[in-house]
Amino acid sequence: MEKKNIYFDHSATTQVDSAVAKKMLEYMTDKFGNASSIHSFGREAKKALEEARKQVARLINAEPTEIIFTSGGTESDNLALKGIALRNRKKGNHIISSQIEHHAILHTLEYLEENGFKVTYLPVDENAMINLEDLKNAITDETILISIMFANNEVGTIQPIKEIGKIAKEHDIYFHTDAVQAIGNCHIDVREMNIDLLSMSGHKFYSSKGTGALYVRKGVRIEAIQHGGAHERNIRAGTENIPGIVGMGLAADIARVNLDDHIKNLTKLRDKIIDTILAEIPSVKLNGHRTQRLPGLVNFSFSFIEGESLLLNLDLKGIAASSGSACTSGSLDPSHVLLSMGLNHETAHGSLRLSLGRHNTEEEVDYFLEIIPEIIDKLRKMSPLYNPSDIKVSNPCDQCINR
Ligand SMILES: *Cc1c(COP(=O)(O)O)cnc(C)c1O
Repeated sequence: MEKKNIYFDHSATTQVDSAVAKKMLEYMTDKFGNASSIHSFGREAKKALEEARKQVARLINAEPTEIIFTSGGTESDNLALKGIALRNRKKGNHIISSQIEHHAILHTLEYLEENGFKVTYLPVDENAMINLEDLKNAITDETILISIMFANNEVGTIQPIKEIGKIAKEHDIYFHTDAVQAIGNCHIDVREMNIDLLSMSGHKFYSSKGTGALYVRKGVRIEAIQHGGAHERNIRAGTENIPGIVGMGLAADIARVNLDDHIKNLTKLRDKIIDTILAEIPSVKLNGHRTQRLPGLVNFSFSFIEGESLLLNLDLKGIAASSGSACTSGSLDPSHVLLSMGLNHETAHGSLRLSLGRHNTEEEVDYFLEIIPEIIDKLRKMSPLYNPSDIKVSNPCDQCINR
């Protein structure tokens, strides 16, 4: 059998859409102007920049003037948190976030803590959901910002964003959401959801690495964290990455037009994986909420198995996936997300994340489902921890939807 080449790791990054790549190339070669120049080359670049701003705004129902282009999700998160914190220092020094945020949020918050801010990290339940009562109880007179991610990058759980927005508004507190995983995978309406700031990253929705945007609601003032020229309304200095921005604009249009079909297709493949794995493999646990989850993301813990060896075995069979441990640091620390959800270290180590995307097919999913039971069986037999009498039928059918 020919070697497969299946990519199930879209939460890590996506391939640049071919139409997007073509357009980017055009803005690297023929239309290479600096958007600040007043001659025709500059004006051409400036026009493309403003067109992309409209396209990105439209995807989340924002106004073009509310979009600030950045170098990616990490920068957008930094700008949102530090920008609000520094600007509102006199109003208060308290920020509310969650334990399961991406490191771009968590490490920025740690930095702010070292500089005099106080942060409450809300816990999550076994499905990685925050509790709205916990959120309300955490609010003090000093609270200036709530930052809760839209959808989790490891387990896929989608938070009750609209309800969080409502609570923030009622208390007159800014609400930021890291929507890097949700963009192009979920319906997002910043007005309806009362979102004040939102981070996105081009390479997670079929555009290039090194491009991102921060939506900042009109009237919300943030401090610049990078100084220089007057680009991006004095909030983000630096010559704009026109090829990247233009590409991200087109990617936003493509995502918006295809969103309903994209969600429908991926949800079907996702649910087939979940239902089949839970029915056919014993001692496996689905991580994350069963239904309130990203359409293409599944995360399982297989007892008695190391995530790393599972990944290597899948790679040998031509499938690229990811595990819940060691994904960031290269160390064997289990994921902070899985630990917050109450998994023990052993279970967290045996986790596997598959994140499907636009180009994946049902044949690819079927191939995965065909080979995975054998791999699990083989790895369990090699494990010193494995004892066949500990194996439980996992199919708690309350977790299944279509069976
Ligand atoms: C990928 C990711 C980021 C970081 O975005 P970059 O553009 O890679 O810097 C931030 N938050 C979440 C949830 C992500 O998945």
